Amino acid sequence: MKDFIEPIARPIGAFQKLPGVGQKTAQRYALKVINMSEREVKDFADSLLYAKNNVKYCSVCGNYTDRDPCEICGTRDRSVVCVVKDPKDVMAIERIRDYNGVYHVLHGVLSPMEGVGPNDIRLKELVARVGADNVKEVIVATNPDVEGEATAMYIARLLKPLGVKVSRIAQGISIGSDLEYADEVTLSKAIENRREL
Ligand code: ZN
Repeated sequence: MKDFIEPIARPIGAFQKLPGVGQKTAQRYALKVINMSEREVKDFADSLLYAKNNVKYCSVCGNYTDRDPCEICGTRDRSVVCVVKDPKDVMAIERIRDYNGVYHVLHGVLSPMEGVGPNDIRLKELVARVGADNVKEVIVATNPDVEGEATAMYIARLLKPLGVKVSRIAQGISIGSDLEYADEVTLSKAIENRREL
């Protein structure tokens, strides 16, 4: 006999696709949904489709947005660009509230082991931006792990000939940890104490 009847097994399978959700948690979520009113379940499902259909990437910075260019690109100091790996890193830095520049989301970092080369992340776009947008400083805020460091060095070599200041966030965040898990004070200090590459 199977553990669950098909109509319960399906949402369990769906929830298990989410990060950090194992069998037990997925089971709890599925049963919770089954106990919601039809209206609540419809709103829940609609919110997922709504997000999927209305969130796009900003053509300038590559962050998630519902308009193009995004609100950050449209309203902030464009002379300072903070380079990050993922949109979730933008969210982490935005939480500290004292950064007034714009972002550039790479959508990955260089990783020879995983076959990710310079053409696989948004480096061309970064060079084009720095050339066209009167950028004075590029702060590289990739994660402080091997790939993040290698990507930072590569960016410094790429951009220095263009006469722009390239800096790296300080190592307040412990090696190997992700930006998104750093607390606001640590992140704020890491940006404040950045060093020129
Ligand atoms: Zn943008």
